[in-house]
Amino acid sequence: MKYFDYLEPTTLSEASLLLAEYGKDARALAGGTDLLVRMKRQALAPRYLINLKRIPGLASIEANDSTLRIGALATIRAVHTSPAVRQQWAVIGEAAQKMASVQVRNLATIGGNLCNAAPSADMAPALIGLGAQARIVSSSGERIISLEEFFVGPGATALGQGELLAELIVPAPPSNTGAIYVKHAIRKAMDIAMVGVAIVLTLDSSGKRLNEVRVVLGAVAPTPMRARKTEDVLRGKAVPLDDAVLSEAAEAATAEARPISDVRASEYYRRKLVGVLVKRAAIQALERASEGRVVAN
Ligand SMILES: Cc1cc2nc3c(=O)[nH]c(=O)nc-3n(C[C@H](O)[C@H](O)[C@H](O)COP(=O)(O)OP(=O)(O)OC[C@H]3O[C@@H](n4cnc5c(N)ncnc54)[C@H](O)[C@@H]3O)c2cc1C
Repeated sequence: MKYFDYLEPTTLSEASLLLAEYGKDARALAGGTDLLVRMKRQALAPRYLINLKRIPGLASIEANDSTLRIGALATIRAVHTSPAVRQQWAVIGEAAQKMASVQVRNLATIGGNLCNAAPSADMAPALIGLGAQARIVSSSGERIISLEEFFVGPGATALGQGELLAELIVPAPPSNTGAIYVKHAIRKAMDIAMVGVAIVLTLDSSGKRLNEVRVVLGAVAPTPMRARKTEDVLRGKAVPLDDAVLSEAAEAATAEARPISDVRASEYYRRKLVGVLVKRAAIQALERASEGRVVAN
């Protein structure tokens, strides 16, 4: 690892100013479970490391009836165990539980997972499925964008120079909503997703038809992606979903995924897996919606 200067700002605007000043030579440091590994492998050698952990208030998780707010520095473990998350957004906790090991989850932050922008990032699909927004701050102000727009390519986000992710804002899902995050990895623990699928679906007031559906795929495109054609297949359909509809949804997802072949799986295998997991996730999300368990657990 090369030498670097280690800076500890105590406010967001101070951190933003440092990032703006040092530009590409600087990196924000949260839990370090991505960044420090890459530095150790010499894949990255920032001249300045800007630790965000001294900035108060960035790790809070709070909810009211309509909104969940998760600070970017909340650890994955805190997200997994948070009573606030469990209220109406438990699928986010479900995704957190499926990430890495407890040791990594104790250090890793939700902001780091999203800002690292791996296509396989476990926290992305469920958050996008729930319509989460990202609050982005810089020394000159703040802006809010949908998390879907936050990812622009593998390892690339919509953050400009000097901008930091401060918080995720997640609206409460309507009643009659069920959600799930399904992850397939080579090993049971400690591996990133070969394919991840989040489905969030809402029944109409009679409970007999799917009103709204979001299908989000991880690890099968340059960014986490909405599978909009799959959503179109499912939206408005009568429940329980029959085999023909489920197969049509699986085929649509298989077709619209854009996977690559890599060390974990071939493009062909990933495509097949997407179909299998979409079908399985749709059935389970529907069960959760029908049982009145608003979101997971
Ligand atoms: C053994 C192991 C297993 C893992 N397993 C998984 C897994 O199963 N699933 C998975 O998705 N990931 C996994 N990871 C990857 C990693 O743990 C997660 O992506 C983690 O959430 C990163 O968070 P962090 O706080 O450690 O980020 P850091 O390493 O501190 O930062 C990551 C990147 O985000 C930037 N950054 C961090 N916070 C902010 C912010 N608030 N604003 C702007 N930029 C910011 C940093 O500059 C850096 O570029 C694993 C890692 C290891 C080492």
